[in-house]
Amino acid sequence: MKKILISACLVGDKVRYDGKGCYNPLIKKLLEYYELVPFCPEVEGGLKTPRKRSERRRNEVRNEELAIITDKFDLGAEKALNICQYLNIKMAIMKEESPSCGVHEIYNGYFQNRKIPGQGWTTELLTKHGIKVISENEIEELVKIKEAEKERKKTKEKPLK
Ligand code: SF4
Repeated sequence: MKKILISACLVGDKVRYDGKGCYNPLIKKLLEYYELVPFCPEVEGGLKTPRKRSERRRNEVRNEELAIITDKFDLGAEKALNICQYLNIKMAIMKEESPSCGVHEIYNGYFQNRKIPGQGWTTELLTKHGIKVISENEIEELVKIKEAEKERKKTKEKPLK
């Protein structure tokens, strides 16, 4: 079974800044087709849970007290990349809008509750190294593709009458 790296909060791990998880029920379906490797770059980068909210502002990351915590994000992203390379993982599913894991959108870096197009810190590093990163919002589509493949395989395997 192929392995996929996945944001740990999506499998329900309570690793978010507010001490909660955000379980996505489609995960169960994914497990029929993939082995999931949950990973939280912020926790692995040395941040505690719960923690201050953080946002990416271009080439740095700050928490809501405006302390620069880019080094923690660098460490988390490097560890994510190491795991992918070590386990030969070619795909990741990440939590949208997070300063680490966002795929298409992140908050603008000024704690104004405004989103902008952009990638999270870890998503950017993984993408740069050729790992396909998709958003949690694309899980449904991925499951549909895998189900269609399964159906096609079943039809092919049906003995001719
Ligand atoms: Fe989830 Fe990623 Fe935030 Fe960790 S860093 S809580 S995995 S979105």
